[in-house]
Amino acid sequence: MDDMPLSKPDVSQEDIDAVAEVLKSTRLSIGPKVEEFEKSIAEYVGVEYAVAVNSGTSALHLIIKSLGLGVGDEVITTPFSFIASTNCILYEGATPVFVDIEEGTYNIDLDKMESAINDRTKAILAVDVFGRPCMWDKLEKLAKENDLSLIEDSAEALGSSYNNRMCGSFGDAGVFGFYPNKQITTGEGGMITTDSEEMQDMCKSMRNHGRDDKHLLQHDRLGYNYRLSEINSALGLSQLKRIKTLKKERHEIAELYSNELESIEGIKKPTELPGESINWFVYVIQLSDEYGGGERDEIIERMLQKNIQCGKYFPPIHLQPHIKKLLGHTEGDFPICEKTSDRTIALPFYRGITDVEARYIVENLRGFL
Ligand SMILES: *Cc1c(COP(=O)(O)O)cnc(C)c1O
Repeated sequence: MDDMPLSKPDVSQEDIDAVAEVLKSTRLSIGPKVEEFEKSIAEYVGVEYAVAVNSGTSALHLIIKSLGLGVGDEVITTPFSFIASTNCILYEGATPVFVDIEEGTYNIDLDKMESAINDRTKAILAVDVFGRPCMWDKLEKLAKENDLSLIEDSAEALGSSYNNRMCGSFGDAGVFGFYPNKQITTGEGGMITTDSEEMQDMCKSMRNHGRDDKHLLQHDRLGYNYRLSEINSALGLSQLKRIKTLKKERHEIAELYSNELESIEGIKKPTELPGESINWFVYVIQLSDEYGGGERDEIIERMLQKNIQCGKYFPPIHLQPHIKKLLGHTEGDFPICEKTSDRTIALPFYRGITDVEARYIVENLRGFL
């Protein structure tokens, strides 16, 4: 069997043509493609404004800055995510306060959240993990009751929805990421989505050296160069045009796995819950309790010897060396997160996986259990 990577971007001839067209023009940055890409995302997600930036992490950073979060402020977030959702809080000197996840959804546990809220709490940053939306109706209510800002890290959830509302449309602002393993890619890139004009204006200024809208060399605030180029934007725009097909195909692959895995006992598969329509980011299964403490790693290693690349999504953020050192967390602080981290396996998940390959992957997994 050929190598089966964990993920693979889907690049069509139309994508290539769209990028080539930009390259043949003279407009490689700050032009019509970025604006068109922003407009298309805003429309697709159902928000007023979208601001394109050069990564999902930059998008998160600009939202933290726009909300004025900084030293002395606490932001409640999940320890089960990609590191960027915590790092963005640290960039501004604010303090991430972790709340453990739910066993069933891998998303932040709302029942454990209230006890983490105090006078210093200023915001909640929740993540739609693996493409599954959080319970945003409840989160919005909780944020409102406690006068907190609410940030949606929907970097893994483009195309997912909750009660018919698209991910990226909840809270004060949402974030998408377009790294090549995401549902659509721009190579590198990200997007801020919001209904707040003020948030849009702040983010547009800060991504462009803090510039005033009209005066090129007037800098009103501390800014960055977080711009997304025309080249990247053209790719994203072209990819977004077929998001429906891409979502459908991801769904079909998930079904394929789900059917094949039916015959293995004790494996927890990703499934949609009432109210959810999920554009899966990755296909993550969880082994039963007996497989903790290194056995999962061994299985992943043996899968790799069969040319099957699996992933460990995610190692707990609170146990990452730099976070541990900074915040003093130890093992056992967030037991559900740790248990999940120890037992999950992300299977290869990309357009074009065949029935034969899916069967091969599942048969190997079965053999190593
Ligand atoms: C991918 C991702 C991001 C953004 O990553 P970039 O590589 O900076 O685009 C942020 N949060 C989560 C949860 C992600 O998965």
